[in-house]
Amino acid sequence: MEFQEFAARAADVEAEPADLEVVDLVADLFAAAGDDLGVVARFVQGRVFPAHSETKLDIGPRLCYEALARAAGRNVDVDEIEDLLADAGDIGAVAAGLDLGGQAGLGAFGDGGGGDDLTVRGVADELADLAAAAGDGSQDEKVRLLFGLFNRCSSEEARYLSRLVLGEMRIGVGEGTVRDAVVEAFDVPAASVERALQVSNDYGLVAETARDDGEAALDAMGLEVGRPVQAMLAQAGTVTDALDEWGTAAVETKFDGARVQVHYDGDEVALYSRNMEDVTDALPELVEFVEEHVDPPVILDGEAVAVDEDGDPLPFQEILKRFRRKHDVAAMREEVAVELHAFDCLHANGEDLLGVPFRERHDRLRSVVGDKSAVSELLVTDDADEIADFEAAALDGGHEGIMLKNPEAAYTPGDRGRDWLKRKPDVETLDLVVTGAEWGEGRRASFLGTFLLSARNEASSEFETIGKVATGLTDEELDALTDRLEPHIRQEDGQDVDIEPAVVLEVGYEEIQASPTYSSGYALRFPRYVSVREDKTPETADTIERVERLADQQG
Ligand code: ATP
Repeated sequence: MEFQEFAARAADVEAEPADLEVVDLVADLFAAAGDDLGVVARFVQGRVFPAHSETKLDIGPRLCYEALARAAGRNVDVDEIEDLLADAGDIGAVAAGLDLGGQAGLGAFGDGGGGDDLTVRGVADELADLAAAAGDGSQDEKVRLLFGLFNRCSSEEARYLSRLVLGEMRIGVGEGTVRDAVVEAFDVPAASVERALQVSNDYGLVAETARDDGEAALDAMGLEVGRPVQAMLAQAGTVTDALDEWGTAAVETKFDGARVQVHYDGDEVALYSRNMEDVTDALPELVEFVEEHVDPPVILDGEAVAVDEDGDPLPFQEILKRFRRKHDVAAMREEVAVELHAFDCLHANGEDLLGVPFRERHDRLRSVVGDKSAVSELLVTDDADEIADFEAAALDGGHEGIMLKNPEAAYTPGDRGRDWLKRKPDVETLDLVVTGAEWGEGRRASFLGTFLLSARNEASSEFETIGKVATGLTDEELDALTDRLEPHIRQEDGQDVDIEPAVVLEVGYEEIQASPTYSSGYALRFPRYVSVREDKTPETADTIERVERLADQQG
């Protein structure tokens, strides 16, 4: 396809306000693209290379302005381009307004000023050469190549070339438009296109596959070790949501680090960030770990976490010091160590696992990673108390919290769905009085546990029960609380103990519900011990009135 035609069609798209018409125009463009379809599908979104490609143009604005100024001739300099840009607000408009082309000393670049044989493929090839320029003098080489391209451009071509090289296409074509246009141009199902994009992230490849081989070939497109997949994301949610929606939840620690996708084909390890940037060189210890402990071929999903000398997690900011680092990697490695916590397995031993239930993918993960310390611990349970204990341990271990996952769910790349929930921290806590307890069992037989909680009724000055808290306490805390409460025991009946109001606990919860179970008429969902309020007496604890207000505010 002539680049002139691409530019003319891009201009039509840009001028079209209606989304549906835009899809039609882009579909026409794809149908007319011939051998250049792959490139066109990227260019139209302002991408020169596939999203996951290691090749980057690396052209700063100044370099682009310099090339433009040179192509515009003797009277224009970079400052003037910047002034024009300040007025126009769009590099495309500036480039289109310059009288480009025909500058001396070009020889092989022809006459310039458009009407030339510049093709989409030719532009892509020149830009690939430009990206490949490296080392001393590479900036000059880039300016020279770009100048050569601009010098051959008509004004419409210059408009879109300048935007393309600066990654500012802005003709209103996003990923959704490209997907819909592929569907329309090549008569393939939207679901097939969507899925193929998720596994490949290569719009050019998907467009070509749709056109040349159709639906079946799209559906057969698999993961490829070395080519990143869009990361599955999470919504905020509660334990109640998880258990209500799935019955059983898969619970993991939420590690406070940076997402990392691990690809290992047996020869080379590649690591990608959440945005599918290649971060392999920045994290050599993960590369070494994977080479030593992971069975190829695999694609794993996980979190890279910065740790101190004892292996305890460091704050999130620390991993950022390592993540995209290009220089002094070895020195930084001495300062901040990084560990892998793998939590998913997308491909193992030649088999794509995206459609396999999470619980099974986690089993596969355990089987391909030799050193289990790098595999996230998984609790599969329908018991909210067990989840609370797991969460308390995760928080005690210095982690961010927990993730709740649907054990039966597939891995849906790029999707922020309801199958992964990051547990929201409690919004409010209540300070409640202990009015009863139960003696523990087994190892905890000498401790009081399962504390009955009450709120004060201001009107009657009575304490009304509202729930029980059994989770979130360590053995030391149980021991200390037992010592505090024992002198206040009024009566015992088997394991059940009646306690006079004396000790106030701060308790987190997910929701307040109306409930006939307790005398207050309310119950706490998923109550969790936070602390002993040493500074509070039963008289200054929270009241039923406050509980009512909080319940109302929940809507
Ligand atoms: P946040 O800032 O809360 O991490 P986010 O927008 O970066 O939010 P979310 O999808 O909301 O990402 O939360 C999931 C993120 O939590 C993942 O991208 C991952 O980096 C991190 N994470 C830590 N531990 C896990 C785990 N066990 N399973 C999945 N993701 C985890």
